[in-house]
Formats: sequence, C-alpha cells, structure tokens
Amino acid sequence: MTFPELQQALDGLRGLSFPPQSLQTHWLGLQDVDLAALRRAVQHAAKTCARFPAPAELRALIEAQPRDLPEVPVLTTPLETPRVVGTLPTGRPIVQTAEYDAWCPECDDSGWAPAELGGAPAVRRCRCWSDNPLLLRARDVQARLAAQRTAGVKAP
Ligand SMILES: [Zn+2]
Repeated sequence: MTFPELQQALDGLRGLSFPPQSLQTHWLGLQDVDLAALRRAVQHAAKTCARFPAPAELRALIEAQPRDLPEVPVLTTPLETPRVVGTLPTGRPIVQTAEYDAWCPECDDSGWAPAELGGAPAVRRCRCWSDNPLLLRARDVQARLAAQRTAGVKAP
C-alpha cells in the first residue's frame, strides 16, 4: 500500500468526529496491512464509529475480518446402530450416532501431544499445530473475538 492509497482509503472517515490533521500516524501504523482489508475495515468503521478510529482500532477491525481458511473435513462416520453411552440426570439416554475420527490421531485435535520431560509425563505442541484445519479455525475464532474486545465493536 502507498501513502496516497491509505489517504484515499481513509478519506471516507473524514466526516467522523476528530479527524486527524495528518495521516502520518495512520501511515506508520497501517502501511503493512492489506489495502483491501483496510477498505473493508473502513466501511465497517463508517457504520459503527462515532470518532475517527486510531490505527490500532482499524487493525483490530482488520483482525476481526473472516479469513480464508482450509475446509474442515468431515470427521464423523455415522454408526449403523446407534448406541447408548450414558444417561442424563433427567433420565434421558445419551445416544451416540456417529464415530469421530480425529484429523490428527497423535493429539486428537487438541494441538498438544503426549511427551516426556525428565522422565515425567508432559505435553508438547503437536506437529499438526500449524496445519490442522480444526486448530486453525479455533485460533481464528479466538483471534477474532479478541479483536472485537480490543476494538470495542462487533466484528463484521
Ligand atoms: Zn496433532
């Protein structure tokens, strides 16, 4: 992104309260972000902000945008015969209708694999940490919720 592109992208927010006289701080704080993502954040800010957002607030809105993530595979196999695996306190039976197959059998999709530390049982970050689609989605949801809290606005 260039400075003129940043200026143009933020121009739509000039009608909000307290627009900055210079966009130098916004340039310093936002020059590494994707222009299309910034434009989406600006559109969202125009609808939800009363005053001109700071670079950190725009970054939080960008963080809150949904990302392209790998498809989560179907990991359940329906059981031919459902089986009762327990009973709820209400007396209603808990019926299992499908078998779950973890994407990563090493950590059962928790992201933490068994390990040993000084002879004692421990856990280590699983080798699937960076490419397990279930973990990527879970971390994306957590990041977006954190960004919403930072921005103090509802994510798009
Ligand atoms: Zn794993």
